[in-house]
Amino acid sequence: MMTQNQSPGRSPQHTCSNRHLLLVDIILPVPLDGVFTYSVPMTLAEQVKIGVRVLVPFGRNKTYVGIVAKTHKGPPPTGFQIKDILQVLDASPILLDAQLTLWQWIADYYMSPLGEVYKAALPSGLKAEDGYRPKTETFIRLTSQFHSEQSLHIALNMLQRAPKQQAALIDYLALSGADEHTGTEMVAITRDELLNQGHTLQTVSALVKRGLLETYEQEVGRLNHGGEAHLDKIQPLSEIQQDAYNQIQFSFLKKNVTLLHGVTSSGKTEIYIHLIRQALERKQQVLYLLPEIALTVQIMERLQRVFGDRLGIYHSKYSDAERVEIWQKQLSGHPYDVILGARSAVFLPFQQLGLVIIDEEHETSYKQQDPMPRYHARSAAIMLAQMQKAKVLLGTATPSLETYHNAKTGKYGLVELFQRYKGIELPEILVVDIKDLQHRKMMNGPFSPLLLQKVREALERGEQAILFQNRRGYAPMIECKQCGWVPHCQHCDVSLTLHRHLNQLTCHYCGNTYQVPTECPNCGCTQLQTRGYGTEKIEAEVHDIFPEARIARMDLDTTRSRQAYERIINDFSAGRTNLLIGTQMISKGLDFDKVSVVGILNADTMLNYPDFRAYEQAYMMMAQVSGRAGRKGKRGLVILQTKSPTLPLIGQVVRNDYAAFYRGLIAERQQFRYPPYYRLVYVYLKHRQDAVVAAAGTEMGALLRQWFSGRVLGPDKPGVSKVKSLSIRKIVLKFELTLNMAEVRRYLALAQQQMLQDKRYSTLQIYYDVDPL
Ligand code: ADP
Ligand code: ZN
Ligand code: ZN
Repeated sequence: MMTQNQSPGRSPQHTCSNRHLLLVDIILPVPLDGVFTYSVPMTLAEQVKIGVRVLVPFGRNKTYVGIVAKTHKGPPPTGFQIKDILQVLDASPILLDAQLTLWQWIADYYMSPLGEVYKAALPSGLKAEDGYRPKTETFIRLTSQFHSEQSLHIALNMLQRAPKQQAALIDYLALSGADEHTGTEMVAITRDELLNQGHTLQTVSALVKRGLLETYEQEVGRLNHGGEAHLDKIQPLSEIQQDAYNQIQFSFLKKNVTLLHGVTSSGKTEIYIHLIRQALERKQQVLYLLPEIALTVQIMERLQRVFGDRLGIYHSKYSDAERVEIWQKQLSGHPYDVILGARSAVFLPFQQLGLVIIDEEHETSYKQQDPMPRYHARSAAIMLAQMQKAKVLLGTATPSLETYHNAKTGKYGLVELFQRYKGIELPEILVVDIKDLQHRKMMNGPFSPLLLQKVREALERGEQAILFQNRRGYAPMIECKQCGWVPHCQHCDVSLTLHRHLNQLTCHYCGNTYQVPTECPNCGCTQLQTRGYGTEKIEAEVHDIFPEARIARMDLDTTRSRQAYERIINDFSAGRTNLLIGTQMISKGLDFDKVSVVGILNADTMLNYPDFRAYEQAYMMMAQVSGRAGRKGKRGLVILQTKSPTLPLIGQVVRNDYAAFYRGLIAERQQFRYPPYYRLVYVYLKHRQDAVVAAAGTEMGALLRQWFSGRVLGPDKPGVSKVKSLSIRKIVLKFELTLNMAEVRRYLALAQQQMLQDKRYSTLQIYYDVDPL
């Protein structure tokens, strides 16, 4: 938010006269607005630069690693005792100018303290004083007295009666390429490398004990080596793809941002690869953003094949130490040319950014929801590109309404690709009315007869099937058969999800787990039944129906580690599994060869969501999931199960009619004052006591109405009105696009300040969600 210099607290030791001091403004990882001013002692003056990390005292007895945002000279500030920085931690900046500017933009635009942006942007290893430890390995070498032909000769003789040690020493000399005259090694050899030759630790230790070899520790990198680049392996584009490629080039001449609207499997990724090659030829770097880690596995392999070790991968499932090393590499003289990463990769330093690709740009996971900063990586990446004069390509089969609107109105360039590669037809989508089938008692649990028949046929032909259910866990609810009692979370206003293989109830909002009750606490009845279907239950039922199928499940619960993702995707790609069940995770751009049938088990759960984006998200999810069907050489089939088969949206999905979908929704958005015609800001208030937050909401609403009048809606109790023991109120603000947002933010900060000054609201939390999804 607004930048204010603040006192980091009183300091007893520093008493300064009126002479001018070297001062620095420091970004600290604390949830307070603005930067903090410190003085720089003479001894450190030389080392202080913008973008280096410094150690500073804070409050009574804390120290923090902060980042220098600004240096200036002046008299000591009045009103507080200034403190000295304690230490400079970097010889050269770890942030480049563009990164600092981006942080500031995110803090302002998304109304989040700069310290929160800092926390989100840097890997932990760079935020703690000793946070990052280089990885070391044990190496071995000859001790110095054996660095001559004669002494080596004696040594080998000495080992006549210890043949194992002699063999190990000979292997060591061979491995290290030691010169037989001088004993000088050519290559550093780790102890493990020698052990891998079939020697035991005991043998090698004996050589160390004799004083022939010695061990030493040395730093080694954690980064993978992708091998050499093979730009010759890039596949030629088809004629239609080449045409799209040319149009993109042309669009780049006029527009900073261009949308590539290409149906699933049209070869968007191949076009990206050609664009990346061109950027590399111009000695420019490329940032390739993906919304989901699941996707990086496949795209990584495709990119690595051609770009080899010029490609770096960066996302949250990588260890913190690995991320620190990538960060440092990007600042070094030999950075990666291409970074493939999820949301947080927008924070990486780039020295020569030329192109940003935002794949699956419509994906909601580009927006960080919790904690702060609640930023959209697409917007942040566009800002970053603008600062570095780089071009942005947004790619998707189902553009977000905002992006498509920007393209249609000429703010962005627009390139369209309506044919799948090799002219394969888009999948056939059959709608099944499950309400009708339920009436006629023809449903088999969540499956219609048609779906089961088509899945069975696919499996019998040796093909694969995907079943999509956007709910994880076994059942979203359990309930007493007698009285209807439903277990709820103690800390949140939601019912608990049953996870059967863990045999527990879980709250999907706070993560708390509970034992599954054996009887109803309300009436004592022991018959508790499940309601609804999560992926785990679907898996169990599919297993009963198709006992011979090799089933895999992909959802949040089965993909806690990076390896788990890779295994599930690789197994399915290789055909080791043939039936994949999953949540929206499986809808995201995965490219499988032998999927002939996709089942959408229940479209209605997505449609009946009380949010202005429900239809947009539902369309995208269904269109994307359908796109997984029938990719190589054959048209696929989608079975879409719904209780509302006549809904226009369902027809639009079936006909793959994005244009009609857009026309329908955009008119509504304009009529009801929603984005992209208006800018939305949600104000959230949270407090442990519902009465307090209710009063605060009303008061803040009234305050905001004084300035913003009819642009203020609420406060309202949101659908989930308590999370983690905090009661919630939400105020919706709708602003015309022409309004000066800087001014709006000033008023909001003012209102917040006024609220928090009130003693009743001293522990009230207020935060904002700008451009909410
Ligand atoms: P999209 O990103 O639009 O979904 P992909 O780039 O993944 O499409 O292409 C779909 C499939 O077709 C992939 O398996 C890809 O390797 C193949 N493909 C697309 N274009 C070409 C091309 N020009 N040459 C060879 N294979 C291609
Ligand atoms: Zn009961
Ligand atoms: Zn909870």
